[in-house]
Amino acid sequence: MTRSSAEQAKFRKAVFHAHKQHDENGRVYLVCGRCGSKIDPVYGWEADHTIPREFGGTEGQPLCKPCHKRKTATKDIPAIAKSKRASDKHYGIKRKGWGGNQRKKMNGDVVPK
Ligand SMILES: [Zn+2]
Repeated sequence: MTRSSAEQAKFRKAVFHAHKQHDENGRVYLVCGRCGSKIDPVYGWEADHTIPREFGGTEGQPLCKPCHKRKTATKDIPAIAKSKRASDKHYGIKRKGWGGNQRKKMNGDVVPK
């Protein structure tokens, strides 16, 4: 699912304004929602959907780049993939392997299960 850059900018803006903080010098900073490190927004930050958009999540949080990458790869993508598998099974759209009701023996012979 892709969004227009205008929609992405709107989301980033909402996250930024909801989470921005000011230090003692009045400089704006963000705090990573996972590792808690202070992020200088000038040097890059990412707006994460706390709940993946695939599941209808609209809430966002700022994350530093490594945390966002890790969350996407280890939490969001597997969760989305799993829900798709469960949904396919539920609706009878089962993905079968190469042979369905056949299997291949160690010597290469194909035999019915
Ligand atoms: Zn982080």
